[in-house]
Amino acid sequence: MTIRDILNGNNFIMSAEVFPPKRNGELENIIRTLRRLKEDVAPDYVSVTYGANGKGATTTSDAASVAIDAFDIETVAHITAVNLTRDKLDETLQSLQHKGVGSLLVLRGDVRDDSRFYDFWHADELAAYIKAHYPRFLLMGALYVEGHPESRDIEQDLDVLAQKIDCGIEHFVTQMFFDNAYYYDFMDRAARRGLHFSVEAGIMPVTNVKQLGRSISLSGATIPDDFAKLTAQYEDDMFDAGCDYAIRQILDLRQNGAKGVHLYTMNNVATAKRIFEAVRK
Ligand code: FAD
Repeated sequence: MTIRDILNGNNFIMSAEVFPPKRNGELENIIRTLRRLKEDVAPDYVSVTYGANGKGATTTSDAASVAIDAFDIETVAHITAVNLTRDKLDETLQSLQHKGVGSLLVLRGDVRDDSRFYDFWHADELAAYIKAHYPRFLLMGALYVEGHPESRDIEQDLDVLAQKIDCGIEHFVTQMFFDNAYYYDFMDRAARRGLHFSVEAGIMPVTNVKQLGRSISLSGATIPDDFAKLTAQYEDDMFDAGCDYAIRQILDLRQNGAKGVHLYTMNNVATAKRIFEAVRK
């Protein structure tokens, strides 16, 4: 089954994000992770992240190619606009095509002091270029149900969503959120604007409190009171509580008509296994 078939089907989608090694050639850990994901979790597809600040085209495409060739897992490669020239993009896309990657999650990337933008400033421009020059790729994009931290307001995020759809993005994955009310509210607002699109909810299982701090500072996600209480109570060992919270979020989303979820696994297969098994029961 191709990713397009999965997205067009009627089953609740359960996909998983993994990150590649930091350095070229160090594939042992990701091979182990992908093998265990395939055997123990069987996600509908995996997506492989792109290094922060535009570093890591090779490790992303190497890890994606392992997922496809060795484990026969449908795979999406992330790609970011930051520090990316048109030449480098062409080279990366040709290599991905050669390795059998047919789907891309097209992003801008987070901006740091040393970030540079050469040919593409935003995800929509990058998507438009890829659509025009490499039309065979299926394009996915990010959306922010609580609003992107740099956006003026949610209306700007809805404008950007419309632009991304116009530029050829066919499917979206949301930034993590811990309160489903934000997801429902965003979908209602989008529907009122006449925006119809395919989307998976991004769910981050938090199994230790340090990880929560990092995730929140990057995503700006709101922490609901019941979740804050859990983190205070189980600070040292959040595994059970963190998995249970994610399971409840996912079951609620499924019951309320969401198309699917994308699990930010942080390469933690035990967490993904616990959550996917519970949801499939
Ligand atoms: P954009 O869509 O470009 O939006 C960024 C900001 O600019 C927003 O405030 C938006 O409102 C505004 N904007 C958008 N388009 C325009 C325009 N045309 N003109 C003016 N303003 C505009 N980062 C990585 O480095 N590697 C990864 O692998 C990665 N994977 C991710 C996966 C998911 C599912 C998500 C949600 C995020 C991921 N990120 C990743 C983080 C992402 O790069 C950041 O959230 C980044 O800050 C924004 O990316 P974007 O593609 O949404 O940017």
